[in-house]
Amino acid sequence: MAWNDLQVMVVEDHGFQRRIAVRLLAELGVKQVLECADGLHAMEILRLQPVPPDVVLVDLDMPGMDGIECISHIAHEHLARSVVVVSALDPALLNTVQTMARAYGLRVLGSVEKPLTRDKLEAVLNRFDEHAGEDPDDAVEDFTAQDLADALANGEIVAWFQPQVEFANGQVIGAEALARWERPDGSVVRPDLFVPILEREGMANALTDCMLEEACRWKQHWDHGGTRIKMSVNVSAVALADPSSADRYQAIVESHDIKPEEMILEITESTVMTDAARGLGLLARLRLKGFGLSIDDFGTGYSSLAHLSQIPFTELKIDQGFVIGAHAQPRKRAVVEASLDLAHKLGLTTVAEGVESIEDWQMLAEIGCDIAQGYLIGRPVPGSELQAAIGRWRRPVH
Ligand code: C2E
Ligand code: CA
Ligand code: CA
Repeated sequence: MAWNDLQVMVVEDHGFQRRIAVRLLAELGVKQVLECADGLHAMEILRLQPVPPDVVLVDLDMPGMDGIECISHIAHEHLARSVVVVSALDPALLNTVQTMARAYGLRVLGSVEKPLTRDKLEAVLNRFDEHAGEDPDDAVEDFTAQDLADALANGEIVAWFQPQVEFANGQVIGAEALARWERPDGSVVRPDLFVPILEREGMANALTDCMLEEACRWKQHWDHGGTRIKMSVNVSAVALADPSSADRYQAIVESHDIKPEEMILEITESTVMTDAARGLGLLARLRLKGFGLSIDDFGTGYSSLAHLSQIPFTELKIDQGFVIGAHAQPRKRAVVEASLDLAHKLGLTTVAEGVESIEDWQMLAEIGCDIAQGYLIGRPVPGSELQAAIGRWRRPVH
């Protein structure tokens, strides 16, 4: 990969470690590097940049302004396009940083444990381009809520699909529908940039209905072609609060000759916990109608065991923050193992999200996870490309 054009800033109070970071960046071919010894100084320099740098590497533990405060300023003031956290951060904390950053349209590429090495740096910088082919114009939030409403009405908000496979036999048994905004100019906008706006502007129901509709339409198409897979659809918190949602979802599914049993509705753990009382009745009704219910991003919310066992979930998805690199990180592995244990005791199917490497695949297979989803198997693709993607997939040998 050529990083000639990448602009990177290093914010690190430790002189030696800062020089190492700068040297490694130079070795990787990054020509435009800014360096700063503390957060406050970094803010001053960033505010003077005509164009925000592509990536800022931020050390979390610094005197004066620490890394979290630094990232929060960068996010608020749009001072960079993405950040990398340099620290052996636990995934729950990284998730907090990610959620905070995402709300302002800033990407967190990931975290890197010290000492920094060339391989670690290269792996995390590779993520900068991850969405590049997919989202040529990403991170430019040059649209209004009205543009989004029009996009929904014009069918520009569509579902892309990411395959899910069984660890036991490597078979593709499902796909998650992920929202993409395909703009008329050919660019594709990621959901983190527009889903929060739709939710804020009262269009959460319209989005969820649209995605369910899309997933059903494609499922019907694949069913006819002989590929029978389950479909998972993300449901917004706001949609959960509307009692009429259960009947609407049933009507959408049935209008495509699909049984609710073949659809899985994903609800994030944090959503369920904040809207628990209101959402519970609806979840119970959806379950009664036969829909599968999945608890998404498990490990990042604050569910108590008592709470979890009360809700009629059928599936638990372990957050990718705990999965990526789990084979080499005992703390992540411990969270994954405990989640699998809990899920299986409650009779839930387990899905690991963010399976990127063969090493993680092997570890997850060994400890008894049921289903894998992640870049190792395939990235999200437009519906028209899913069958080809499934055809390319080969299960790693155990
Ligand atoms: P999510 O529901 O947790 O979806 C999984 C995200 O992880 C997707 O990002 C997917 O592309 C990404 N991913 C999958 N495998 C890997 C992997 O191996 N490594 C890494 N690093 N990432 C992986 P995407 O499509 O950008 O979606 C981001 C989030 O936007 C979703 O997170 C979900 O919370 C939200 N979202 C997407 N579609 C919808 C939707 O239709 N409705 C609602 N309410 N939210 C949606
Ligand atoms: Ca999901
Ligand atoms: Ca997730």
